[in-house]
Amino acid sequence: MRIGAHVDSADPLAEAAARGADAVQFFLSDPQGWKAPTARADAAALTTSDVAIYIHAPYVLNVATTNNRIRIPSRKLMVSHARAAAAVGAAGLIVHGGHVNKGDDLAVGFDNWRKTFAYAADNGGLDTPILIENTAGGDNACARRLDALARLWDAIGDHEVGFCLDTCHAHAGGEELLGLVDRVKAITGRIDLVHANNSKDPFDSGRDRHDNLAAGVIDPEVLAAVIAAAGAPAIVETPGGVDGQATDIAYLRGKLGG
Ligand SMILES: [Zn+2]
Repeated sequence: MRIGAHVDSADPLAEAAARGADAVQFFLSDPQGWKAPTARADAAALTTSDVAIYIHAPYVLNVATTNNRIRIPSRKLMVSHARAAAAVGAAGLIVHGGHVNKGDDLAVGFDNWRKTFAYAADNGGLDTPILIENTAGGDNACARRLDALARLWDAIGDHEVGFCLDTCHAHAGGEELLGLVDRVKAITGRIDLVHANNSKDPFDSGRDRHDNLAAGVIDPEVLAAVIAAAGAPAIVETPGGVDGQATDIAYLRGKLGG
């Protein structure tokens, strides 16, 4: 079982080594910006490394939205990130499920996801597997609750799409962790990656504040059991820098082995 961390993008392999991680996730561009990623000087080192590489798409990306001034650049950004992620040997590009605006029909959001994959197929394809991540907040989200996730998968299931399960988002988003992996897999058929995070906020709070694994409001034993059941590589997106994340990785290795 590979276990790693979300790290600064300047030197991900050094960050992985500092944490004892054999997987690493980072951004290829400003997570709050719209710039297409540029080629990295360390692409060859990343591609040939023993460390598994995952790329997180910018937070601004929302392919589901009914606002075309965000939706159109979002799908372009997703395709360019998938290309750039392939250039560093990434195993997956993590993209948030996104949302529609208040008052909009969520069905349009699911259809916008379907259109995004059709657009990508018409524009050179997606060079890296897309892993759609569940999110914590909002009443109009495509992948906060599993009833929405099922409708999303109905819309895009014909395409090759992966899933990234964030344990903090599931808890804060209002999904019970007990039995969650089975409920998710009944919809998606797969979990490709786990974002292994505890939560600072209560169940169904809709808030997205990650905490270290043995801290936070989720029972660490329950958390570890969910992560183990997923049977996928785990990335901690937890606070505390090198020390905090190294402690979380060691904690998970102790629980999961490997
Ligand atoms: Zn996450």
